[in-house]
Amino acid sequence: MKAITPKSPLLTLNNGVKMPALGLGVFLSTREQTAGAVETAIADGYRLIDTAAAYSNERQVGEGIRRSGIDRSEMFITTKLWMSDYGYERALRAFDVSLRKLGLKHVDLYLLHWPVPSAFDATVESYKAAEKLLADGRARAIGVSNFSPKHLENLIERTKVMPAVNQIELNPFFIQRELRDTDNRLGIVTQSWSPIGGDFNRNPRASPSAARNPLEHPTIVKLATKYGKTPAQVVLRWHIDHGLSTIPKSVRPERIAENINIFDFALSQDDIATIDGLETGMRAGSNPDVVNAKTIPIRIED
Ligand code: NDP
Repeated sequence: MKAITPKSPLLTLNNGVKMPALGLGVFLSTREQTAGAVETAIADGYRLIDTAAAYSNERQVGEGIRRSGIDRSEMFITTKLWMSDYGYERALRAFDVSLRKLGLKHVDLYLLHWPVPSAFDATVESYKAAEKLLADGRARAIGVSNFSPKHLENLIERTKVMPAVNQIELNPFFIQRELRDTDNRLGIVTQSWSPIGGDFNRNPRASPSAARNPLEHPTIVKLATKYGKTPAQVVLRWHIDHGLSTIPKSVRPERIAENINIFDFALSQDDIATIDGLETGMRAGSNPDVVNAKTIPIRIED
């Protein structure tokens, strides 16, 4: 492999573990594409890979890591527990399956993929299982995904370990100011999914304007010209300048390289505020208040 040094700065989680601010997402990366994308990303200086049991590509993520030749200790691997596996014992078993597929002895971050408000007891039990995995050293940090301030409050009052990360839908069309403030107040790192608007493209019902793709919005295009960067680089830099972690997905080598080459410039405060102004108040993904294993029916294969 190319001897490339890590490119992303690190964020310190609330238990002292360090996590790269920017990583590679692999949602909708097919099994055929995933190992290659992971290997390419590592050669380009990525050290964080974000997968999930529900993405059906944990095996290929593991394969990409091994193919890259990198030492495991240099990588930060996140995976997530799917809702159909919620409950204490089920969660522990599902974690074993994820580790086996990844071919790893531990993960760096284990997340509950969604809250299940209609079965919140099972959500809490799953988090308690994650606490056990943390205590046993099988996950170096634990957290949640798609939790609203209310979901966080309900979880925290019934569990011991403050989540280290809350991974949420966040991009210039849906900037999640209140949730970011809550995460900050609680010492939780906010990590942006669909950071460049992936879900707006997949999901036309959320179309906020003629420019459904944030990367085509005239404001972003203009800023890209101003900074001599691509629209994706401007948007990803906006996440970093807000102190967020982010995990853009691509399976194309040129975009994988483009998306991490954002650490040689910074946006001005005015330009950050201008991008904040693109907020539409509309999410593209599922509503965390009503989600459950039936609303997103994914079967986790062994
Ligand atoms: P992104 O915002 O990362 O957008 C991905 C899309 O943008 C793909 O279609 C990709 O295509 C394209 N793309 C990537 N780079 C560029 C570029 N430089 N210029 C133009 N187009 C580009 O969306 P995702 O929804 O994939 O979110 C990122 C990650 O977040 C996921 O992969 C997953 O790991 C995580 N996630 C978590 C969720 C959760 O519930 N916790 C939900 C959804 C995502 P191509 O691959 O062809 O380059």
